[in-house]
Amino acid sequence: MRESGYMARMQTDAPLSMPIPGHIDPVPVPRAFVARPDGRIDLLGLGKPDLRLALETAQLEPKQAKLRAKQLWHWIYNRGVTDFSLMTDISKTMQPWLADRFVISRPEVIEAQVSTDGTRKWLLRTPDAQDYEMVFIPDADRGTLCVSSQVGCTLNCRFCHTGTMRLVRNLTEAEIVGQVMLARDALGEWPSQPEGRMLTNIVMMGMGEPLYNFDAVRDALKIVMDGDGLALSKRRITLSTSGVVPMMARAGAEIGVNLAVSLHAVTKEVRDEIVPLNRKYGIEELLQACADYPQANNARRITFEYVMLKDKNDSDADARELVRLIKHYKLPAKVNLIPFNPWPGAPYDTSTPERVRSFSNIVFEAGISAPVRTPRGRDIDAACGQLKTASEKKSRAELDRQAEEKLAALG
Ligand code: SAH
Ligand code: SF4
Repeated sequence: MRESGYMARMQTDAPLSMPIPGHIDPVPVPRAFVARPDGRIDLLGLGKPDLRLALETAQLEPKQAKLRAKQLWHWIYNRGVTDFSLMTDISKTMQPWLADRFVISRPEVIEAQVSTDGTRKWLLRTPDAQDYEMVFIPDADRGTLCVSSQVGCTLNCRFCHTGTMRLVRNLTEAEIVGQVMLARDALGEWPSQPEGRMLTNIVMMGMGEPLYNFDAVRDALKIVMDGDGLALSKRRITLSTSGVVPMMARAGAEIGVNLAVSLHAVTKEVRDEIVPLNRKYGIEELLQACADYPQANNARRITFEYVMLKDKNDSDADARELVRLIKHYKLPAKVNLIPFNPWPGAPYDTSTPERVRSFSNIVFEAGISAPVRTPRGRDIDAACGQLKTASEKKSRAELDRQAEEKLAALG
């Protein structure tokens, strides 16, 4: 039997962060249990069996624990309640008993920013002082929350700012599901309702590689998808991977959400350079795993993300090769062309709009949808690949200031 996440956390005494272990052979870090200083246990992020177990561990008799777990589940994930005294179907004597032993937390918000285009970005902090980010992108007909799975990322794709962060740690289920709950709080969207909500879609496209934090991502998304929980359909959730081939079948079987794959190049030479994980899992292997992905069909196509880097991967020949590969593997696919979002010190430039159009036309004329993703929230560094957290950003700002002072001193 799989050990429950709750027990695993109780027993884990692992380091909370680690240096980047290398370009192509990252080591996933065990998840961390951070005991609250007041001794209470945080129920945020616990799945159904773990909620029950937490209550039983607090000496509640098993039948009671089962009933209370069901009630708590509804209040926590469907109603968004964090205060036990508001749980009206739990007795007035039980409420303080719960409050003495448990809390229902939210990620700590360090900063909330709003872009001129309405995109919102939150800088969040874990109890062990690691910073991560989430982004909400409102559109006319939908609202998409871009959720992080790790602090930083071990994979170092050369065009991605997140990949340059020095410290990496997996986020826990609580920290992942907490992002969605926080967004619901901010948008005033409790209780979970099927119609008329602003937060309609979730993309696992924030900081980190979700398939290197598989268990926590899976367990968090299970809560997000639960009909009596956050109640978002698996059809409205997309998991983006840079191509962790051995985990893709499991993602299909155990999570079942839509798949997006960060392809970004069609030759070994270029993909090896820009997505170093390609040296371990090559393009053919990756596309075969896509063809085998159980949810891939014409109604739920796989999205291939393709960041447009000037003179690197944006030629007409690249576009034609992309079409050939998709057809060769008979993939129900659409291509998402992402204009490269620059960041200070990035080694690439954004392709020209004409290049992007020409590339898009070639793919489109082959019968494959190839929309160009409009960059959102660039002014607050919230666009794809720009996420990198404040501690480092502030030190960079500090460095810039120092450089300016030096220049000024030089006259
Ligand atoms: N690690 C996962 C998910 C997070 S990245 C993955 O790589 O798929 C989300 C998307 O943003 C990926 O397709 C990624 O390649 C893209 N991206 C990263 N840096 C970017 C940049 N500077 N400009 C545009 N897109 C970028
Ligand atoms: Fe990690 Fe994705 Fe960025 Fe690559 S693009 S470094 S996998 S977050």
